Parts: sequence; structure tokens; C-alpha cells
Amino acid sequence: MTGTPTRVLVLNSGSSSVKYQLLDMGDGGRLAQGLVERIGEDTSRLAHTPLRGGGAKRERTGPIPDHAAALKAVAEELAADGLGLDSPELAAIGHRVVHGGLRFTEPTVIDEEVVAEIERLVPVAPLHNPANLLGIRTAMAMRPDLPQVAVFDTAFHTTMPEAAARYAIDVETADAHRIRRYGFHGTSHAYVSRAAAKLLGKEPGEVNVIVLHLGNGASASAVRGGRCVDTSMGLTPLEGLVMGTRSGDVDPAVTFHLKRVAGMSADEIDVLLNKKSGLVGLCGDNDMREIRRRIDEGDERAALAFDIYIHRLKKYIGAYYAVLGRVDAVVFTAGVGENAAPVREAAIAGLEELGLAVDADLNAVRSDEPRVISPVYARVAVAVVPTDEELEIARQTFELTGGKVTRTTNA
Ligand code: ADP
Repeated sequence: MTGTPTRVLVLNSGSSSVKYQLLDMGDGGRLAQGLVERIGEDTSRLAHTPLRGGGAKRERTGPIPDHAAALKAVAEELAADGLGLDSPELAAIGHRVVHGGLRFTEPTVIDEEVVAEIERLVPVAPLHNPANLLGIRTAMAMRPDLPQVAVFDTAFHTTMPEAAARYAIDVETADAHRIRRYGFHGTSHAYVSRAAAKLLGKEPGEVNVIVLHLGNGASASAVRGGRCVDTSMGLTPLEGLVMGTRSGDVDPAVTFHLKRVAGMSADEIDVLLNKKSGLVGLCGDNDMREIRRRIDEGDERAALAFDIYIHRLKKYIGAYYAVLGRVDAVVFTAGVGENAAPVREAAIAGLEELGLAVDADLNAVRSDEPRVISPVYARVAVAVVPTDEELEIARQTFELTGGKVTRTTNA
């Protein structure tokens, strides 16, 4: 017997991959998750993990020519677990969409007009939005009757004041080409800042939080009373912190210098700054585990890469402290932020005058739970909050389509 449908399928479609999770918003639990990769190649692979009922992880290999075939294969795997996409218990499908421009400030039910608008934003997100649209079109063709929702990486940042969102360049040129700071990772910043408030026993509206999302891509945000007032990524995800393969902030003159002096094309500079810079450009590795291992062995290049990474991070903590005026918590999240204790220790070291400190024992604890790692005497909490973008997309999708979330894990 089925009651109100409570399941939400979350799709994160890349150009050659689809990540998915099926969640039950009745209890916030995960039913299944998986990944299709190398779509369009002969060596495509689907890895599917049922998360309830004790089934084992399953894999398929062999050509999956396009996103339609990928989603069909996902549907088959889900159906094999009794979780088919034709089930009346499926309430909606939530899609991660990277760029929502200024138009999409909230999660949005997708119709043809919304698809057209996401398409119109392709020039500012040439890598991501077309891939997101492939997933949307495929899922809509499969279940045209089902509400499908776009949840935008940029949406949380649309509350930034103009003073933070505008670059100081000619206004007419900027407006003609929609050049401004949009910010990304917004779903994570939204989830983590809310979960941090909960960890402190407060409402989101009562606290000011600096969120440091440190994954392979990395961004910081300043969140005042639940609303983003500044973030480190800009027109594209290239701006801001040192990342796995992205430079983050550089003097924009570096680009025309490379063009004039090294004869590089715009596309070559794009690849250099997005794919061959950051930690990988500095020391050849972008995995923080490997960098720490090399530092322990006395590797100076790895040590310098780490120092540059930390120096930039510290600058953003200081900048966002100044932007917020009063800070209740500095929160670390994503792969590096959740796991790399030495990064947290080094980023906060020396900031005692700002009321910031890390307790070595608490920092060393490994856990999947949100936790405070500052000593009891510290004026400002330092915390680790594991991010959960899929749960946040599912929650926003479910609420927008009329579902009421009764209990979710952390937020
Ligand atoms: P993304 O979603 O941006 O691909 P993640 O948030 O999954 O990235 O973070 C991936 C990064 O997290 C890895 O590149 C690695 O540097 C870092 N990482 C993961 N586990 C650890 C660990 N135990 N210690 C240090 N760094 C880690």
C-alpha cells in the first residue's frame, strides 16, 4: 500500500557521466546510489549500490552511447532493486544545474521555458550547463508526467549585495556580457551553513558563518543570518582559493601577458588555469593525502604548494571576517575540509586574536558527524560539517513539489 510519494531521484549530469542517488524524504534516508562514467566511449561503466536491503554493489561495463542509454541503464538497475522509476512512490526528480545566472534564485520546476533559459546561460557555463541539460531532457522524456526540479549551484549566492557581486570594470561592458560574480557550490554552502547553525543550537537567521568548501574545487563563503553576502568563486569557478587544478585568484594581466609573450591562445590559457594550475601545477599532485605524504618525506615542492594553499585560505578567512564583522563559526567541509586535519590546523593557526583556535585532539578525531573542533574557551566556533549536496537537492526538490520533509539527517 503506498501513501504520498516520498522518493526523490537526484541526478548530477556531467558531459560524460551521470551521478545519481535515490532518497526517501519520508526519513531522509538513501535507497540507492551510483555513477555512470565514460558515456560515449566503448569502456563505459555503471556502478550501482543498493543502500537498503543489504544488496551488494553491481557493475556493468561496455558501451553506453549517450545520456538516454545511461539513464535507461540506471532505471534498470533501480528496477532490479524494486525501486523502478515507474514506481508511484517516486515524487520527483531533482537535477543539479551549475549556472542559473541572475534569473534562478530558487529551485525551479522545469518546463520548456526553464530549459530554454538554462540553455541561454550556456555562454557563461560552457562546460556544465549543456551536460546538465542532457540529463534534464533525457529524464523529462522518460517521465514527462513527473515534476522535475532544477537546483542551481549559483542560487544561494544570488543574495550577494551588488558591492560583492560586481567587478570593478566598465558597467556597460559587464552588463552587455552578463559579467559579474555568480559563485558556485551554493547547494553545499546552503546545506553546511544551516547544519552549522544547528550544531551551535541556533537558527540559521541568528548566526554568521564562514564556510570553507575544500574539495577538488574549492570555495569560501560569508553567510550572514542564513544569507550569502560574499563568495570566492566568480563569473566562473576559477576565481578565489587555490584548488586541485585551478589557480584561483591571479592578476588578470597574467592572461594577456601569456598571450603576448608566450603566444598562447585563449583556449590554451583556459586549460592552463583551470586544469594545470592549483596544487597540481605547483607540485604535480592534486590529492591532499599525497601532498601530505610527500611533505612528511621532506619534499619541498609539496611543502611550498601546501603553504600557498594555506596562505590563500587564511586570506579569505580574514577577508570574510571583515565582511561579516562578527563571526559565530568557521566551518570546514568537502573532501579536504572534512578529512585533512593539517589543513584545518594550519588555516586557523595564528588567528587567536580573532577568537579562532583549533583543539589538537578534537581536530584529530575522524567522524562523519558534524562536530566542533575549537577549544571551549574560543570565542568563535571552528567546526567540521560533512556536506551532502544530494540530500540538499532532494530536500529542495521535495519541498518545492509539495512534500513536507519531516526529518533529515543533519539539517
Ligand atoms: P570534488 O567533489 O570537488 O571532486 P571532494 O569534495 O570529493 O571533491 O574532495 C576530493 C579531494 O579531497 C581529493 O582530491 C583529496 O585532495 C581530498 N581528500 C579526500 N580524502 C582525504 C583525506 N583522507 N585526507 C586528505 N585529503 C583528502
